[in-house]
Amino acid sequence: MLYTDRNITCSDCGVDFMFSAAEQEFFEQKGFRFPRRCKECRKAKKDGGGGGGARAEGAGSRMGGGGAGTGETWPANCTQCGAETTVPFKPDPARPTFCRKCYGERKTSRTR
Ligand SMILES: [Zn+2]
Ligand SMILES: [Zn+2]
Repeated sequence: MLYTDRNITCSDCGVDFMFSAAEQEFFEQKGFRFPRRCKECRKAKKDGGGGGGARAEGAGSRMGGGGAGTGETWPANCTQCGAETTVPFKPDPARPTFCRKCYGERKTSRTR
């Protein structure tokens, strides 16, 4: 089966994006349905689920006696609802800490 690059119109934002032959082949092999949204919209949708938001800068955070520097989490309590959560950075008492749910709610309420 031969694939050719084709343009698909995003069903979300209406922009034309390229769906390359290689991608088509990949999707076909995996049995995925061809995408109907552009990369931006798919990404936006994915981020909405609550991925890793703020990335802590790794400046001088070596002193913790942990193991691998990345993937380390600290226990914290959500400033808003008090739920226990873990954060990928050392909680700063001077700054609010939010659990995933509250963080997502803040984000969505801010965009609209
Ligand atoms: Zn789009
Ligand atoms: Zn919360």
